[in-house]
Amino acid sequence: MKKILFIGTGGTIASELSGGSLSPSIGAEQLIRLVPGLGDMCEIEARQPFTLDSTDITTWHWLTIAREIEDSYDDFDGFVVAHGTDTLSYTAAALSYLIQDSEKPIIITGAQRPIGFDSSDSKQNLRDSFICACSDLLHGVLVVFGGEVLLGTRVRKTRSKSFSAFESPNYPAIGTVKNGRLTVFFCPVTGEHRFYSLLESSVGLLKLTPATDLELLSFMLSRYSALVIEAFGVGGLPHREGTFRKAVRRAIEAGKTVVLTTQVESEGTDMSVYNVGSGLSDIGVIEAFDMTPEACIVKLMWLLPRAWDNDSRREEFYRPVACDIFPQERSEK
Ligand code: ASP
Repeated sequence: MKKILFIGTGGTIASELSGGSLSPSIGAEQLIRLVPGLGDMCEIEARQPFTLDSTDITTWHWLTIAREIEDSYDDFDGFVVAHGTDTLSYTAAALSYLIQDSEKPIIITGAQRPIGFDSSDSKQNLRDSFICACSDLLHGVLVVFGGEVLLGTRVRKTRSKSFSAFESPNYPAIGTVKNGRLTVFFCPVTGEHRFYSLLESSVGLLKLTPATDLELLSFMLSRYSALVIEAFGVGGLPHREGTFRKAVRRAIEAGKTVVLTTQVESEGTDMSVYNVGSGLSDIGVIEAFDMTPEACIVKLMWLLPRAWDNDSRREEFYRPVACDIFPQERSEK
């Protein structure tokens, strides 16, 4: 019988109503007991390193989950992490960079409705996740939600209420679980597992609006070691008489790292198309292409402590980790 480590962290899946609003209170052991048949499928050890609405998750919590898995990696065949859905895509990206090329499945799941509610996706998502964690066909960090198996570096929460809350906009689903039956379409090949334990949290995200001014851009550039700018469409910087481009160029010359992504869900950036974007890579802006903003942010946190200058950061950024970016779209500039 397979041995699975189950890590509860809170979220809606473990929430109950108290004083008219939801907060997580059900522990990992109790969650398992509430899903009939799980104990017949595999041997489960349940742990609860913390209990939070995922709104309160920080980089420390990512490292804590990763350490929990690392410390017990040899003792289990697979891992299931139950997590709040709101920041689940960040945690999925974080675990993908902190635990690379895992030969064993590391499944992250959650739910849109608490396990105790009459209509809830909690039990199905948990059951599906354990099926995946027990599978010999799956490996690496995956999100199992609403009957779909998605790659950890590619997921985004795209619906705030429906049961099918997650998608991987620029990457196909790895598989499906329907009526307890797992179908694996493919699962990217892995090497030998590696763990990392250093993250630099000084990475900011600036969402451009038509009203964003130079003062805000300059503040964000000075505040963080790396800045992800969420631009419009295929990507570009507002002209503003050349002031934005000048501020970004100066920041990069001073050693800051700047990545440009887009607010558009699917298909990614192509900075070379419009005048507002062309030439940005020549001044050192790194283009996100098909990567999710979540993966961009966490990848920077992971690579800042190990790549000291902008050339090596750019090189590392474009080196695919857990299929986070399509290599053929790498910038040649
Ligand atoms: N606010 C909750 C959380 O992220 C939402 C959920 O789990 O669905 O913890």
